[in-house]
Amino acid sequence: MAPTAAQIDALLPQTQCTRCGYGGCRPYAEAMARGEVLHNRCPPGGTEVVAALARLLGRAPLPLDPACGSEAIDRVAWVDPEACIGCARCLPACPVDAIVGAQRHLHTVLQAACNGCELCLPACPVDCIHLRPRADGIAVPTAAANRTRFERQGARLQRESDARATALTQAKRAALPAP
Ligand code: SF4
Ligand code: SF4
Ligand code: SF4
Repeated sequence: MAPTAAQIDALLPQTQCTRCGYGGCRPYAEAMARGEVLHNRCPPGGTEVVAALARLLGRAPLPLDPACGSEAIDRVAWVDPEACIGCARCLPACPVDAIVGAQRHLHTVLQAACNGCELCLPACPVDCIHLRPRADGIAVPTAAANRTRFERQGARLQRESDARATALTQAKRAALPAP
């Protein structure tokens, strides 16, 4: 039987970097399960993940597709404190909530949570986010950790959306003339 999207997704690094050309790991896994795309498009996973995917899918091992980028080396985002203007635009760009900060205050990156996906870099209007080597003693987040943080963020965004919808409904009701 052909592997499911969940089985394929379980082999992916879960950085959600989109370098495969899909919106995240799960959409790429789903496309592979449908047989629409090759299994060599994940630079963060590199040769090891391509080989694991080839075994699961019963396909030939392939070199990483250079169109998706080169095999990732471990680096983390760092915010230049002299240049950050506290605009908070980097916060929604991070798929694992690894950036902390509030409007008009310096933002910083939690190295233990940052997976180096680079999605925050283009979001910064003053180009003050740079990639640097991870500090000694701070481990690279595992795929499981990336997945947990990504799913937790999804749940938080859903709660916030629900709360906004409820507040809007209540405001509309309050604005109606009394019967
Ligand atoms: S980690 Fe790999 S599968 Fe996941 S979004 Fe990035 S390139 Fe795609
Ligand atoms: S801080 Fe930037 S590089 Fe690190 S995980 Fe978040 S978006 Fe990706
Ligand atoms: S997007 Fe750049 S300037 Fe704005 S808060 Fe983030 S790091 Fe600071």
